[in-house]
Amino acid sequence: MDLLSYLLPDPEVTLFDNIFVDSVSKMVICTASVTQPLALCPLCRQPSMRIHSRYRRTLGDLLWAGLSVQIGLHVRRFQCDNTDCQRKIFCERVPTVAAPWARRTLRLANAQQAIGLTTGGAGGSRLCAALAMNAGIDLLLDLIRTLQIPERTTPRVLGVDDWAKRKGHSYGTILVDLEQGEVVDVLLDRTPESLQQWLMTHPGVEIISQDRAGAYAEGARLGAPNAVQVADRWHLLKNLTNAVYKALQQHHTEIEGALIQGSLQEPPRIQETDTHLSVPPDVQQPTEADRARQQRAEEAHRLHALGWTTMAIATHLGHRTSL
Ligand SMILES: [Zn+2]
Repeated sequence: MDLLSYLLPDPEVTLFDNIFVDSVSKMVICTASVTQPLALCPLCRQPSMRIHSRYRRTLGDLLWAGLSVQIGLHVRRFQCDNTDCQRKIFCERVPTVAAPWARRTLRLANAQQAIGLTTGGAGGSRLCAALAMNAGIDLLLDLIRTLQIPERTTPRVLGVDDWAKRKGHSYGTILVDLEQGEVVDVLLDRTPESLQQWLMTHPGVEIISQDRAGAYAEGARLGAPNAVQVADRWHLLKNLTNAVYKALQQHHTEIEGALIQGSLQEPPRIQETDTHLSVPPDVQQPTEADRARQQRAEEAHRLHALGWTTMAIATHLGHRTSL
C-alpha cells in the first residue's frame, strides 16, 4: 500500500484517486473512491450489488502537515432488490469513514469532539480555528451531544453527596461508584424523592455511603430498603468535629472560668539541676519570674472579677490565647 492510500480514512474500503494543493485556499484536495463490493439497504438490511448511480461527497479531514484537507469521496447509490422494501434506492454507507450526511470524516469529528469536551464550545471554536480545522460553537456542542455514553452497570457500593452547581446557591446530588471510583450520575436536586427514584430504577445497590443527612437517608431507605447505609470517614470526622464544637460552645462560660482558675493555680517551675538532688517545690525560693507570673495571675483574677473577658484580660496582660 502506498503512503497516500495509507493516509486515507479507512484504506480497507477507500481507494486513492488523486491529490493536489489549491494554491488559493492553501488546501489539500484529495479524491478517493469507495471500494466495498456491495452495500446493505439501511431499511431492510438486504445486501445489494446493483449500482444505480454515483455521486461525490465532500468531507473535511484531519490536517496534512498543517494544511486543511478536503476529501472528495466518490460513493454510489444502490437499488434495493427486496420487493417488500419501501426503499428502492439508497446511498451506500461508509461508517468507518464518515457518518451519513456528515461533512467531515469520523476522525476529524472525533478530534473536534475531543477539543470541545476539553475546552468547551467557545474556547474549542477558537482552538479549532488556530489549528485550521474550523468548527463553530454550535458544531462543537452538537458533536458533544452525540457522544455515546457507555452503559454502566448499577454499582454495588454507591456514594451519595452534595454537588455544587453554583457554590452557595444551587446544589444537586452526585452519585459515585465507590468501588470503581467513577461518577455514575448527577441528580438535579438533593431531595429524598430524587434519590429514591434513582435507586428504584437502578436496583442492586447493596451499600449506600452518605453524609447521614436526613434527606439522603430518607431517600436511600425508601429507594433501596435492603441496602446498608453507612457514613464515610470524612463525614464521620466532620460530624464528630461539629458535635464537639457544639458541646464546647454550650459550656463556654465554665471553660473560661476553669482557664482563669488554672492560671491562678499554675505551679511554680521546678529547676532540676540533678534529678537525685532536686529540691522539693514547697521549699524552693521563688524566682523573679515566679513573682512576675504570680502578679499577672492575681491581676487576671481581679479583672475577671470585674467582668473582663478572657480575651480582654489576655490582651491587657500581653498574652496571646488560643481559646
Ligand atoms: Zn431495502
